[in-house]
Order: sequence, then C-alpha cells, then structure tokens
Amino acid sequence: MFDIENIRAQFPILTQTVNGKPLVYLDNGATSQKPISVLDSWQKYYTEINANVHRGIHTLSQLATEEMEIARKKVQKFINAKNDFEVIFTKGTTEGLNLIAYSMTNFIKEDDEIIISYLEHHSNIVPWQLLCERTGAKLKVIPMDENGVLRLDFLENNLSEKTKIVSFNQVSNALGVINPIEKIIEITRKNSSALIVIDGAQSVPHFKIDVQKMDCDFFVFSGHKMYAPMGTGILYGKEEILRKIQPFHGGGEMIATCTFEKTTYADLPFKFEAGTPNVGGNIALGAAVDFMENIGHENIQKHENALLEYAQKKLLEIEGLKIYGEKAKRTGVVSFNLEGIGIASDVGMILDKLGIAVRTGHHCTQPIMEFFNIAGTVRASFAVYNTFDELDILAEGVRKAQKMLG
Ligand code: PLP
Repeated sequence: MFDIENIRAQFPILTQTVNGKPLVYLDNGATSQKPISVLDSWQKYYTEINANVHRGIHTLSQLATEEMEIARKKVQKFINAKNDFEVIFTKGTTEGLNLIAYSMTNFIKEDDEIIISYLEHHSNIVPWQLLCERTGAKLKVIPMDENGVLRLDFLENNLSEKTKIVSFNQVSNALGVINPIEKIIEITRKNSSALIVIDGAQSVPHFKIDVQKMDCDFFVFSGHKMYAPMGTGILYGKEEILRKIQPFHGGGEMIATCTFEKTTYADLPFKFEAGTPNVGGNIALGAAVDFMENIGHENIQKHENALLEYAQKKLLEIEGLKIYGEKAKRTGVVSFNLEGIGIASDVGMILDKLGIAVRTGHHCTQPIMEFFNIAGTVRASFAVYNTFDELDILAEGVRKAQKMLG
C-alpha cells in the first residue's frame, strides 16, 4: 500500500520550516531529498567501515569492497543490465556523458555525424561539441514543435552511415516531456549503425528502467536525483562497446600493468573507474535503490502522475499562466511563466519567502528558452514524498506572486 505519511516520515529535512513556513520542496529535478535509510547507510560506512576499496588485504578494506560491489549488483538489477561489470560508478550524468564522448574519440572521423535533440541539458550538448572540435565531426539537432515534441521525421531523414552517435534524454528536465525512446531507437537502428546514448537523469527517479529491453548502447544517470547522495551516478554501457573504447581517466585502479613504456588496462568495470571512488556514496546509492524498490515503481509512477495532473489543473486555473509543453506527455515537472512577469526568479523569490522551493531560470537548457523566446521559467518538480496539499500551497503562492508583481 502507498502510505504517503510513512514515506514523508523517512525524510527528516521535510519537517523543517523555511522563512517561518513549513518547507514545500518542489525542486526535485535539481536534486531530491534523501531518506533515513540512505543517510544511515552513508553514516554506517564512515563510522564502521571506512577504508579504501580493491587495494587492501585488511578486513575493513575487504568489507568496503564487498559493500560497494553489492551496491553495483543492486544497480545492475535496478536497470536490468546483463552483467554487473557493465555498471560503472561515476560522479553523475555529466561525468557519464563526458566519459562516453571522450572515450569514443578514436572512433569518430571528420565528417561523421552526431545527432542530439533540441530538448537536451547542456551536459548532453557540450561534450558532443567538444568531440566534434577534436575530430571534425558534425553535430545535428532534432528540432521540436511548440509542445516540446521532437520531430522524428528529421531524425529519420538525417540518419545515415555517417551517423556515429545518437544521444538524447528520456525525459526533459526543463519541460518534463517524455521522449518516445522506443520509437527513436527503432528509427535509429533501422537507418544507421549509430550508437545510442540515453540521458536518464530525469527518468530514473520516476520510471522502471530496463536497458536490455530498450536496447540502448549507453544509459547514464545521477544518484542524487533518485534519493542517493550527491556525487554519485551510473554509466551503463554494453560490454562489447566498453571493451573497445579507450579509458576516460588514467590513474590508480584502472591499470592491469604499468611501466614507463606501456600500460595495459584493468578489466571492466575498473578500466573506467580511475582513482579512489566515492565508496560511501556508492554504497548509499545501493540503499536508494532499495528505497525505491520497497515503494515499487508502479506506486511511484501512479502517485507522481496524479501530482502532475493536479498541479497542472490548479495552476491553469490562474489567469495568464502558461505551462510550457502543456500538451505533451510529461512526468515530474511543471514549467511555467506568468503573463506580464518577465523575470521568473522574481516569482521564485516570493515563493521562497512562503517556504516553497522551486527552480527558476534556464535550467541548463538555453536552446529551449531561446525557442520559446524567454529568459527562463519557474519549474516545480515532484518526488514521491510530495503531497496534493503542497500543490495547493504552490498555487496559492503563485497567485500571491502574481498580485505582488503584476
Ligand atoms: N541531464 C539532465 C536531463 C539533467 O536534468 C541533469 C541535471 O539536472 C543533467 C543531465 C546533469 O546531471 P548532474 O548535474 O547530476 O551531472
């Protein structure tokens, strides 16, 4: 049974007041709060286990290694990867995307093509631009319509044997639009031999992920948006591709042998995990997986869909309020502006005074803002612990802001 009070009780941070009002935390797209089980797991590592992994013969080092490898297996199951060594620990989505773009360098030639979409976060734009600068490849962008829906005819018409990478998000962080990934993958496979990269930063907190069913080549996400600590993330890659591409970072942990003349690399996943990892964070990421699985994906999605529908209804009752991507299939996010109020952060500041945390600005998606000819939006984004009462408070706060600024 879905018990919202029980879920909220697991997040001590939600009980505080901000500016004298009960905190209404609606900035989950930026980062989610962390449940006690995740905090406990992190603290247990530092109070009872703390030691470096994979190097020590002593008991604590072996225990730390064991716990981190258990967390890797939990993530493997969570995203249904075929092998645990296809799961690489990273700092987050940004590092995962940079890793792929860098490690692919030797496979990209001048005039090859990389296709991304208009809906991307800067971290799924800039690493590809850097790859294009290094290699002379060209970047193409799938356009979108007024609803934030991608024009898949463009993708179909632009795929060719020149296309080496197609990279796009499953859910847009700025609008919450859900991209039709099955269709995108089907079109890409039919018309090219490009590798498919999926940015799952905004989908993993909401959906059940099955990388084998999806048949993507890479899938990246951040732990901190799915109830795990900051500085954690995952890169999934298909075994045969991870074996072929070069390492991103060089250093300890990632070598098999090292001499001044030549280095050979460690086996997967360590080839891509140079240096001391975020052991406590990675173990706590395993606890975040448990947290989500204990509630159940179906329950999470059902509750969050209901929140989105309710938020949309309440906000659209406000005259002059425009929701971007309103007609598209979405999850987790309502991105809006008020007519006549050009600066979204003014609305955000008034909401903050009322204890309501939302994000304002371009959300690291400047091309989307340019498309709508705006500087930014107010973005309310939801997690499993949000309530309908909180959405009433949000709508009331927005009305107040409108009155004060209008
Ligand atoms: N991609 C998307 C869709 C995002 O929403 C974000 C963060 O907001 C990122 C990538 C970057 O994630 P991180 O900052 O955790 O690396």
